[in-house]
Amino acid sequence: MGLPLFIDGEFVDGAGERLAVTDPATQNVLTEVPFATPDEIDRAVASALEAFRTWRETPTPERARLMMNYQALLKRHQDDIAKIVSAETGKTFADAKGDVWRGIEVVEYACNVSSLMMGETVENVAHDIDTYSLVQPLGVCAGITPFNFPAMIPLWMFPLAIACGNTFVLKPSEQDPMTPNRLIELFVEAGAPPGVVQLVHGGKEQVDALLAHPDVRAVSFVGSVPVAQYVYRTGTQNLKRVQAMAGAKNHLVVMPDADRDQVISNLVGASCGAAGQRCMAISAAVFVGESADWLPELRDAMAAVRPGAWDDDGAGYGPQITPQARARILDYIGRGRDEGASLLLDGSDCTVDGYPDGNWVGPTLFADVTPDMSIYRDEIFGPVLVTSAVDTLDEAIRFVNANPYGNGTSIFTASGAAARRFQHEIDVGQVGINVPIPVPLPFFSFTGWKQSFFGDQHAYGKQAVKFYTETKTVTARWFQDAPSQGPEMTIRLR
Ligand code: NAD
Repeated sequence: MGLPLFIDGEFVDGAGERLAVTDPATQNVLTEVPFATPDEIDRAVASALEAFRTWRETPTPERARLMMNYQALLKRHQDDIAKIVSAETGKTFADAKGDVWRGIEVVEYACNVSSLMMGETVENVAHDIDTYSLVQPLGVCAGITPFNFPAMIPLWMFPLAIACGNTFVLKPSEQDPMTPNRLIELFVEAGAPPGVVQLVHGGKEQVDALLAHPDVRAVSFVGSVPVAQYVYRTGTQNLKRVQAMAGAKNHLVVMPDADRDQVISNLVGASCGAAGQRCMAISAAVFVGESADWLPELRDAMAAVRPGAWDDDGAGYGPQITPQARARILDYIGRGRDEGASLLLDGSDCTVDGYPDGNWVGPTLFADVTPDMSIYRDEIFGPVLVTSAVDTLDEAIRFVNANPYGNGTSIFTASGAAARRFQHEIDVGQVGINVPIPVPLPFFSFTGWKQSFFGDQHAYGKQAVKFYTETKTVTARWFQDAPSQGPEMTIRLR
């Protein structure tokens, strides 16, 4: 029993230690994941480096065609993949399908690779001299992904990197590795040549091995803030290109002129959807003026949502990923109470019929939360919404800007002027206007700011193409029959 690794074009049994992968609704063991040994990591990187020599020479339209085949296969299998996502994360089936679909959209974007890799040309930069740029792949790239989107986030990374002519070593989360294995199986079925992609499993040790490996040129990471900081520091210290997408505390600012029903239903979905295990979940709401009077209705709407098993159509969301994640959330709920916040709805004692061992946490709502409280400062990563009240939009903007994170934020209002001021003045990288979770589609990039992102080129979109490529500028002169003027000893002025 156990998942294979994928090294040098073959699925192989890992020789390392194994970790049980469990169903978060039951604790039943689904499979075991082998942690790659140092030798297996070396073989994966060596094979990727070897494959790079030929893959980089493969014409871009051919690379694009691999992505088209892959997109078609992913679409054909999206329900089966979503079932695997549901099995190992506990996500509701509808939510798991969203996880897969958002990944497919990035593969669709990667089908445009020929246009995305166009360089620039200026003719006659001097007499008879032209300058143009070539966009070339880097080499072996590595990706390290979190548990919360086991389909989407690997698909943010390896298809675009590979479409750009790189080869790729994926190290997904050890907590839900079955989905990435299926993604790689389908990539092989789509026609990926041997060596172009490698799959190694594991945790910190395997990440460290990739960060230290001299043949890994770039590392794309998604995960929690402390690990993102560590990966960014270590990777850049080892002279690698690194992008590290991290955790967050995302605020939704409610103006009193907003549509009350929209505010309430959007807050419920954005705070509790996916059990609050989204880096773009709304985990803090800031009520401006009399909009704070809507808290009782918000409480009732949250209380009406119940978690449940992935195939329960009435369930709003599933379990937390592990018993430890659940215990951590319950600890925060206790701390919030001790710190003096008003606990309007407490999801600590949540149970689900038929699933006594599931990692359940019910919707939880705090009011009167201040910035010094740990429930405000930290990313709780559960269905817990903390709320605060202020008097003006100015105050709300200052409140959000004082927070160290900057992944996403949103304003709900009927005023164009308020929305425009908010979008201009807010120090957050992804802004929603009457949209609670403003995740851009892949032709833009996923532009988190501040402590939610370390690096400069973001995930997917044109920025990811820059991240996965190098620009070479060529200055060229073709002699026409003119005789040589002799050596040029000074810089030419024209
Ligand atoms: P995590 O940081 O625990 O793990 C992420 C990856 O890092 C995994 O592959 C894991 O094996 C590895 N890892 C764990 N500890 C490590 C260590 N000490 N050294 C090196 N590698 C280590 O994150 P998670 O719990 O799997 O995912 C949830 C987090 O990811 C949340 O904080 C969430 O906000 C964040 N996230 C961010 C984005 C984004 O785009 N900004 C998207 C999704 C999730």
